[in-house]
Amino acid sequence: MIALIALSLSMLCSVEQDWCSAVAATFQKDTGVRVAVAQKATGEALAQIAAEKANPKTDVWFGGTGDPHLQAAEQDLTLPYRSPRLPELQPWARKQAEMSGYKTVGIYASALGLGYNTEVLARKKLAAPACWKDLLRPEFRDEIQVSNPNSSGTAYTALATLVQLMGEEPAFAYMRELHKNVSAYPQSGPAPMKAVARGEAAATVTFLHAGPREAQAGFPVKMTPPCEGTGYEVGSMSIVKGARNVDDAKKFVDWALSPAAQKLGADTKQYQLPSNRATPVHPSMADLSKLKLIDYDFARYGSAAERRRLIGRWDREIGSQPR
Ligand code: PLP
Repeated sequence: MIALIALSLSMLCSVEQDWCSAVAATFQKDTGVRVAVAQKATGEALAQIAAEKANPKTDVWFGGTGDPHLQAAEQDLTLPYRSPRLPELQPWARKQAEMSGYKTVGIYASALGLGYNTEVLARKKLAAPACWKDLLRPEFRDEIQVSNPNSSGTAYTALATLVQLMGEEPAFAYMRELHKNVSAYPQSGPAPMKAVARGEAAATVTFLHAGPREAQAGFPVKMTPPCEGTGYEVGSMSIVKGARNVDDAKKFVDWALSPAAQKLGADTKQYQLPSNRATPVHPSMADLSKLKLIDYDFARYGSAAERRRLIGRWDREIGSQPR
């Protein structure tokens, strides 16, 4: 007799571990489909999916910043799928789908801000940063952590935001100056805010949704949108081309776009703006319409060539340089 072996859904997840676990467990409970989940920063997830192209081991990639999802679409690593829930989504989430030929879709949005530890600043008699330029103040020497754009989608969003906000040459001049104040470039986007929360760094650049999460955990942190204006992400989700379990991956995408599934973000204290218009908006979520947002060019900065070029330039001119 041939035993029927249930395929589990293999998921790469680029939000924080507690949201990844809640998504996997709840989908499993709701549908009976088993889920094997691995958490990876957005750039690392893209690298894994590219490396597995000939023999994909991942079915679905949940979360992480949208640019690497757009790059995966362009590199033909992901599968077009039009969820019946698309009409329920915010325009920015549908645009992400249309732009990629329906190979990805927006699940949340969040804008970049400056995060800082109020106790560390008070102890060192430092004024809170309000603008990008404040991070260059000499008294912030060795007091700042920002993540590494090779692995972190957050850091790439920041890099592309600065280029769009200032122009490429001034943005690289800014990052070269900032480098003098940076004590570490961790691999993962949420890591620097956790270092700020623990008082290991005074300030960071990260998504605004990271602030309330750490504050509610009892840490003395605050966040502010930079005065010059800021960029934002359309956190995304994609099905891997050649996935072994396409049917369950599609079922997962439909489920993950539902209000009940999207609420798991806020339930695990991750306060991005959800893409389904019917998902409740938590009071800790930033109102993006009140922020001075750049008109982020996702087509350009989500293209493989531009992302590689900018990260290569960052490696040469910043990441590899002594401070
Ligand atoms: N965690 C959460 C909760 C996020 O919203 C995002 C961005 O989409 C990330 C992590 C991305 O992390 P990383 O910068 O490590 O790619």
